[in-house]
Amino acid sequence: MKYPKTNAALAEWTREKGTYERGLPEEPGEAHAFIPWKFTHQYTLGPRIQTDRPTFLEGGEAERAACGKFVKVLLPMEFDDSDPDACPKCVRQVELWAFDPQAWKTAQQNKENARYRRKYPVRLTEADLQSQADVRRLRAAAELGDSEAIEQLKGLYPPGNQDGLA
Ligand SMILES: [Zn+2]
Repeated sequence: MKYPKTNAALAEWTREKGTYERGLPEEPGEAHAFIPWKFTHQYTLGPRIQTDRPTFLEGGEAERAACGKFVKVLLPMEFDDSDPDACPKCVRQVELWAFDPQAWKTAQQNKENARYRRKYPVRLTEADLQSQADVRRLRAAAELGDSEAIEQLKGLYPPGNQDGLA
């Protein structure tokens, strides 16, 4: 079965022999499913997708197929789950997408957010952690009326932001 609004996609393109022209690899490998679901797919990539020839993407432009793998060739045909080379994970994903596109999109967004958090984790340095521990100790002492701790805490905060430190 073919899935409208999708593209069959390949992981890699190749250079035509002796030229700089991009072409399809002799061994194309698995056919993945590209499902446009993001704003950028619609407005940035969408107008570039060719309907009569493959669309080649550079490394930095690679898009994720439904299975999560990066693809650099969008073929001018719909993903077909009866293609013997169809990626089994993409077959499962297009089924889920066709069943409930909104839920699928939400799941994709969650995966993307998780990838982003893994790539750009908030890392506290040892100094950050130490100063947090120091502040906790000062706060505890200030709670007990330690005037020195109160003065030190006041020094940590700019004037006008000392509520509750008096
Ligand atoms: Zn796939």
